[in-house]
Amino acid sequence: MIDLAVRAFALPLRHPFTISRGTVEVQDTVVVQLHEEGCFGYGEATTNPYYGATVESLTRRISAAAPLLRGMAADDLDAVLAAIGSGLGDDTFARCALDMAAHDLWAKRHDRPLHRLWGLDPAAGPASNYTIGIDTPERMVQKMAEVPEWPIYKIKLGTDRDLEIIRELRRHTNKPFRVDANCGWSVKQAIDFSGPLADLGVEFIEQPLAAEDPGMKEVRRHSALPVFADESCGVEADVDSCAGRFHGINIKLVKCGGLAPARRMITRARELGLDVMCGCMTESSVGISALAQIVPQLDFVDMDGAALLASDIASGVVVEGGLRRYPDRPGTGVELLDGPLPLA
Ligand code: MG
Repeated sequence: MIDLAVRAFALPLRHPFTISRGTVEVQDTVVVQLHEEGCFGYGEATTNPYYGATVESLTRRISAAAPLLRGMAADDLDAVLAAIGSGLGDDTFARCALDMAAHDLWAKRHDRPLHRLWGLDPAAGPASNYTIGIDTPERMVQKMAEVPEWPIYKIKLGTDRDLEIIRELRRHTNKPFRVDANCGWSVKQAIDFSGPLADLGVEFIEQPLAAEDPGMKEVRRHSALPVFADESCGVEADVDSCAGRFHGINIKLVKCGGLAPARRMITRARELGLDVMCGCMTESSVGISALAQIVPQLDFVDMDGAALLASDIASGVVVEGGLRRYPDRPGTGVELLDGPLPLA
């Protein structure tokens, strides 16, 4: 029998975070706890206006799963995941929180780290970048200088002076960059920028065009840099359509509905010859620790979410200077700092 509890938290950010669509200073998030016989599994979904996920919608949808789970056993993970999938339909954010918690609880019941139960080596997988949000070039240089221990920087673009920003940042570090336009460019801009960006030590471009822009094939053909799909690759069904339009995909657990669909997306992307990266949505260590379980399978990693927070709500996998440190604990390794949520 699985009990469900859910609670919203407000996560204060270290810096106001700006992308091409707007600015966030406090990230609202919803944490779900699944409990069975003294074991607690945790999952998280942050709110996101672009995807229509609010504290209210997430709390309501997640709470609705409680009766579905009450008669189930955590060890029957496939059945639990199927119930979550059928009960929550296409609300991938709510499904993500429940999927993470179900995996965490399942592995905790086995008293093993989740990645070990999957046969993955936690030492495998690349280092994470640190993301610099849009600001004045001077402030972006300053933000980068505040985190000198990170090995790679992902720069948010989509301004009217994108090349100027990268040229200015390049004057202050030799480390690799990657850039994310968050749908902010035209076909011409994407192609025209790609050469100078390659010369400036940028590794790849994430989501240059709007999600459905048919010009993506042309960009892929003429870009001097690899292009990765983020907004164009939300759920499992999107992976096939990215072949021929992108060189790789960016998997985010809230977009696709959690770890189970993410793992299927990795498999499908490999079959199609696509590179795979993961991204995050400014989650606390609850979500980041879940994400860390699949990182050994990935080519590129963007999981600085918890490092962007002024204070965290959980302990678990720590990402410092781009490197992951897994706690010696079962499941995804997550424990809430204030202890388990009260049982409903
Ligand atoms: Mg992105």
